[in-house]
Amino acid sequence: MNTKYIFVTGGVVSSLGKGIISASIGKLLQARGYKVTIQKFDPYINIDPGTLNPYEHGECYVTVDGMETDLDLGHYERFTGIHTTRNNSITTGRIYKTVIDRERHGDYLGKTIQVVPHITDEIKRRMLREEDPLCPDGHLPHNGENHPDGLPPHYGGGLGRGSFDFVITEVGGTIGDIESAPFMEAIRQLRWQLGRDAVCVHLTYVPYLKAAEELKTKPTQHSVKELQGMGIQPDILVLRTERHLDDALRMKVASFCNVDLECVVQSEDMPSIYEVPVSMQRQGLDAAIMRKIGIPVGETPSMKSWHDFLDKQRRATREVHIGLVGKYDLQDAYKSIRESLNLAGIYNDVKVKLHFINSEDITPDNVAERLKGMAGAVICPGFGQRGIEGKITAVEYTRTHDIPTFGICLGMQMMVIEFARHVLGYADAHSMEMDTATQHNVIDLMEEQKTVTEMGGTMRLGAYDCELANGSRTWKAYGKKQLIQERHRHRYEFNNQYQEEFEQHGMQCVGINPTSHLVEIVEIPELRWFIGTQFHPEYASTVLHPHPLFMDFIKAAIA
Ligand code: GLN
Repeated sequence: MNTKYIFVTGGVVSSLGKGIISASIGKLLQARGYKVTIQKFDPYINIDPGTLNPYEHGECYVTVDGMETDLDLGHYERFTGIHTTRNNSITTGRIYKTVIDRERHGDYLGKTIQVVPHITDEIKRRMLREEDPLCPDGHLPHNGENHPDGLPPHYGGGLGRGSFDFVITEVGGTIGDIESAPFMEAIRQLRWQLGRDAVCVHLTYVPYLKAAEELKTKPTQHSVKELQGMGIQPDILVLRTERHLDDALRMKVASFCNVDLECVVQSEDMPSIYEVPVSMQRQGLDAAIMRKIGIPVGETPSMKSWHDFLDKQRRATREVHIGLVGKYDLQDAYKSIRESLNLAGIYNDVKVKLHFINSEDITPDNVAERLKGMAGAVICPGFGQRGIEGKITAVEYTRTHDIPTFGICLGMQMMVIEFARHVLGYADAHSMEMDTATQHNVIDLMEEQKTVTEMGGTMRLGAYDCELANGSRTWKAYGKKQLIQERHRHRYEFNNQYQEEFEQHGMQCVGINPTSHLVEIVEIPELRWFIGTQFHPEYASTVLHPHPLFMDFIKAAIA
């Protein structure tokens, strides 16, 4: 079968859940036995979101091959279980950089470089996932091949046009945005070129006007008109709505927008995003896509394991309260951690109630009150000084009160600093990130980082090997595996000079990188559950395979 391409665009307003719809389509096609990948094209100029503040863009998601990407890639991976790579997250900045680098290299000698065709051609190449004959990785450094730990071949992925039955491309932003115009032009051209091998799915919003007591389709009509004005006729419309849409309304939309009735589906508010694939399947979204492409629809897949998960989710009503100690009071900033905790809760038959606890407000006087009622605490990742002391105070409290505690990246570093200050007695212990003058730099800049001057894409990124210590709590949680791979995003690291001293006093280094000997996991075995990871396990938790550390953490919290 030729590779088929599905383009997902959005209109009317942002935040309609294009990422969830794209992930759901991926899941449904996968359930039919197809090899699928999902990619996101973002119209901003940054090369990647790695340098963006989480308030601007939410969490930065990291792929196994070390690309800092949009949080929608997290949805793709959690829904489908696939590993995305650097080829699944493209920005306008990356497109332009490739074209400009090529121009400087002399690849277009004699030609004027223009948005059409040069930028649009590069967008098309990336959408099609064709290799660049001139430069296989678009002149970008830090590619999978250079990864020091030599990732297993299935991680690298290549552009892999031939290896997918379906390539789903989600375009960020909203129709009508000036900056997404080249992406739309690329889609228009590709549709023409690919014929039935391409399908356009457009997501819009149907608002309910309370005063008129009516659902309104006009914004959808306008949005589709805008798309048609760019030469793109959508094949399928997904209408986001807070109220059920009846057939008459769907019929109206279908006839105004030149779309078949069966191709107008609705995406109602759901109690959980994980209900969306099932709702889409019930309405025949995947069947509609297949009919458009001209593949026999066949039987509807049962999606048994997904349904089992949803049943578990519906049954999990007993609540467990977990404190999320961090500095960003924004849902999306810790997206993958939130989802990982929720998923681990469901598999432990409990409903995780997350409480954001702003570390900036935590003091020794109020910490007991702030953490009151929490069965466990997660000390969140982050960068910079803000909220640091509050995190350390929270860790001191959970350690001395034996409350299950999970430190992730910066959170793990705070566990180490707290231990150094209050158990080893080094009052000035700190990370070199916050205090370069400290005499006790228990967290230090990694050797390989000392010569780094550029900010973008230069952290220690992506999946690295980690060897687990036999008999440790972590090792047991991972099902007694010897070697694991987890994803990283950091510049600072446990200072190995202190390893012996920490271990003598009860904090064990139970996860070590076999090549660099960096300490990746610490734990205090004496406590019920007190584990810090330098890596981000949250990127590897999926709906059907919740992460073992989150599973074990929740288990301890409810014990
Ligand atoms: N700021 C810390 C470092 O760079 C931790 C990073 C993180 O939490 N992702 O090492």
